[in-house]
Amino acid sequence: MDDLALMVDLHGDGERQSPGDDAVTRRAIALAGLPGRKNLSIADIGCGTGASTMVLARTLDAEIAAIDFVPEFLETLEDNAHRENLGQKIATHPLAMDALPFDDQSLDAIWSEGAIYNIGFENGVRYWRRFLKPDGILAVSELTWLTATRPDALTEYWERHYPEVDTASAKIAILEASGYSPLGYFPLPSYCWLANFYRPIEGRLGAFLERHDNSDAAQAIVAEHREEIAFYKRYSDYFSYGFYIARRSDG
Ligand code: SAH
Repeated sequence: MDDLALMVDLHGDGERQSPGDDAVTRRAIALAGLPGRKNLSIADIGCGTGASTMVLARTLDAEIAAIDFVPEFLETLEDNAHRENLGQKIATHPLAMDALPFDDQSLDAIWSEGAIYNIGFENGVRYWRRFLKPDGILAVSELTWLTATRPDALTEYWERHYPEVDTASAKIAILEASGYSPLGYFPLPSYCWLANFYRPIEGRLGAFLERHDNSDAAQAIVAEHREEIAFYKRYSDYFSYGFYIARRSDG
């Protein structure tokens, strides 16, 4: 089994594949000014098993295109959507987030939680902009420094894993320079990482190793997760995901 298949096996049972929470998604929806609007066309990009997709479908009058390149995650999302009778609002598409099929200026909103880092924040927001209607909304969460300075070990760790990690003011400057008008920013509270993401993963690591006979590849993935979790527990004052909500601007 290759590393991607192992990651899918480890994360597929999770309610989320990145830090987040339904209440956080609802807060971003409110900041985006979407509640009450009719017949919205939304894409949830890098949706995973669709925790945010389901919140969007429950909350809004919308058709949602749920995009992820892992078909197994989309199957779980479809099962969940049918169970809640939301299947008619959600269409899944097994596609790469850097080769999207939408017409230019066709979407009211692009949603993406804990996923844009896969193609890079700046590259992603620039590429996705064309698909938004002139006043369309972008709502993305992205790894963010919470303070201007921090311990060197932490800087070194995240710059190795995600060199685009930066402060909220730097991310907002990128949005402005990329043709967006910022509407809101807030950092995700730590329960989104610990209670909603890392503790469930810690609970699954033992069974994951057993399923894969303690293979070298499975052990490497477990070690990576343990290191990331330890960094979070030690340094959570200094970083989180930031949720960025912006409107396409043509000025
Ligand atoms: N939004 C979900 C999942 C976040 S994890 C949540 O918040 O729970 C990131 C997701 O992006 C994973 O589901 C992964 O399969 C997907 N992904 C990673 N690279 C991708 C790419 N290049 N194209 C499409 N999906 C990708």
